[in-house]
Amino acid sequence: MSADCIFCRIASGELPSREVAQDERFFAFHDIDPKAPTHILVIPRAHVASLDTAMDEALLGGLLAFVRKVARDVGVAELGYRTVLNTNRHGGQAVAHLHAHILGGRQMTWPPG
Ligand code: AMP
Ligand code: ZN
Repeated sequence: MSADCIFCRIASGELPSREVAQDERFFAFHDIDPKAPTHILVIPRAHVASLDTAMDEALLGGLLAFVRKVARDVGVAELGYRTVLNTNRHGGQAVAHLHAHILGGRQMTWPPG
């Protein structure tokens, strides 16, 4: 837990969010500024700044498994969805707590911006 990290504070319940799912290690909630009809963020409860500093392979595997479960539970898995991990400045990462975006409910395009 990092006291000045907004996503740590969301995962602990100190800050409000629109929760989608949680377990002992992960927390999923709706993005406050959705870029698709379904836009959910999945975060580890443990503070990890980014994919670049994520050294725990079990945590990374668990994060993807949680993404998969949430995507199925909210009903976007069959038609499909995009999973995004923005990393550091060129990756467009605005919040320095590892998070996976789940974007679905519309056709995604390629290449990304
Ligand atoms: P990124 O640019 O990959 O760091 O994504 C950060 C995401 O967090 C953006 O899509 C924001 O809309 C979202 N976000 C920021 N603050 C909140 C919040 N309090 N609740 C939900 N989503 C948030
Ligand atoms: Zn944090």
